[in-house]
Amino acid sequence: EPLIGVLALQGDVREHLAALRASGARAEPVRRETELSQVDGLVIPGGESTTISRLLATFGLLEPLRARIADGMPAYGSCAGMILLASKVLDGREDQHQLGGLDVIVRRNAFGRQVDSFEEDLAFTGVGSVHAVFIRAPWVESASPEVEVLARVSDTPEVQGGEAAAGRIVAVRQGRVLATAFHPELTGDTRVHGMFVNMVTEG
Ligand code: GLN
Repeated sequence: EPLIGVLALQGDVREHLAALRASGARAEPVRRETELSQVDGLVIPGGESTTISRLLATFGLLEPLRARIADGMPAYGSCAGMILLASKVLDGREDQHQLGGLDVIVRRNAFGRQVDSFEEDLAFTGVGSVHAVFIRAPWVESASPEVEVLARVSDTPEVQGGEAAAGRIVAVRQGRVLATAFHPELTGDTRVHGMFVNMVTEG
């Protein structure tokens, strides 16, 4: 039975551990290189991407994690996790580190800074209708052809963020890397985590 880690430097770690365990996986927090080396897949939670990026460097996890992702370890990033996995960030800080693995450009806090959160039902490829909770969320501004688009926000000007946000990409998969701009760990619906557990089991 595979062991899935949740990067536990900052963010909503407990919720991801619970969602993974509810999906039938073994799941443990990861703070050290020795713990990282033992997991078969890793969730990078939501939180603050600049803080997680800084702590990755402080804890000596930046290069080991980049190496494991480059080596094909399955990874799932939610919100801040999606930002960290992206190859490029718009509206990020100069000194923010990227983990790579996802050939996309993301825009931080894309749906508007004044609105903290919103919720929408999305069609999620391979899962079905998902109730998505967005908290100061990014969107995927552009994706390379190798990236599979799994979900978008609705294509109407009434969507949060207005016309600029209509139809934006909010869930993607590239090989063994999965990312969502929203937080399935907060809704009690474990199907997205179940999809990731399957990716780890198959890997
Ligand atoms: N706005 C945060 C960031 O830029 C992400 C928010 C979240 O993870 N809920 O890192």
